[in-house]
Amino acid sequence: MTTMIDRLAIIGVGLIGGSFARALREAGAVGSVVGIGRSRANLLEALSLGICDEITQDVLEGVKGASMVFISVPVCSIPGVVAKIAPALAPGCIVTDGGSVKTGIVRECEAHIPAGCHFVGGHPIAGTEHSGAAASFATLYQGKRCILTPAEKTDPAALETVARIWRLTGADVCFMEPGHHDRIFAEISHLPHAVAYALVHAVGTADVEGENVLSYTAGGFRDFTRIASSDPIMWRDISLMNRDALLASIDGFSASLAELRRRIDSGDQAGLTDFFTTAKQFRDAIV
Ligand code: NAP
Repeated sequence: MTTMIDRLAIIGVGLIGGSFARALREAGAVGSVVGIGRSRANLLEALSLGICDEITQDVLEGVKGASMVFISVPVCSIPGVVAKIAPALAPGCIVTDGGSVKTGIVRECEAHIPAGCHFVGGHPIAGTEHSGAAASFATLYQGKRCILTPAEKTDPAALETVARIWRLTGADVCFMEPGHHDRIFAEISHLPHAVAYALVHAVGTADVEGENVLSYTAGGFRDFTRIASSDPIMWRDISLMNRDALLASIDGFSASLAELRRRIDSGDQAGLTDFFTTAKQFRDAIV
């Protein structure tokens, strides 16, 4: 195929950025890839794995001449990165991101992007609990959704280019208003991570006659809490950036847990059966 992006700059060559570069390389969609990051060790790993052609810790140097910049660092750092690179962007450059929260990022990045360049917000619905360039792989996005979150100022041509690029990674692209995205992902992603972290916290600090109760955990506990092994900085940032929607989701969950507690406390057999049956029906309906 003909190269769609002459020079792609990836800021944050971890699981998401590294997999984006690998998929586009395999699709033959990029000329060269420059990897930009903070630690030299991760960048050297990215270079040796063939994810990038060049690496640099100098973000301004790295984005020079890039036709597309993909930002995949923790969400609270994304607007600051766009503000920093703004003076070095080539005319026509499209800046896009893979951050898991969209309202604040789209608003702030649009404010920083210089005239003649474009920002398009994005969020691939794919991932693992592993981090860094070594965790990335070319097929991460195959058959997965990627949500693009256009706002009023989004350039339609830039949006279409970003959508085409994501389709080349194997992703199914869909479009959503940023606030709607954040409320949905507060429920189905950010709340489950918060609950998994809180659960492991509670059980890890539980005192049952001085026993280390975690040493008795089996499949169910491990399945339920796998996501509590995710990167703490990433989840700190997501929790703070999607604060309002996440707090509303936590309140909804707290009410549900309180109701369950009430039915257990009162020995309400029918109520408990109904509670578990309804939840099982919702769970079984997930394809
Ligand atoms: P990751 O594997 O930890 O990669 C992030 C990379 O960014 C690291 O290699 C880190 O390398 C670099 N970095 C961190 N802060 C930086 C900064 N201020 N400037 C430059 N580089 C920086 O994390 P990830 O899972 O790819 O997540 C990246 C983004 O994707 C996040 O915004 C997250 O919300 C989003 N996302 C994640 C998932 C998932 O399941 N993991 C799914 C969808 C979206 P150094 O430490 O060497 O700088």
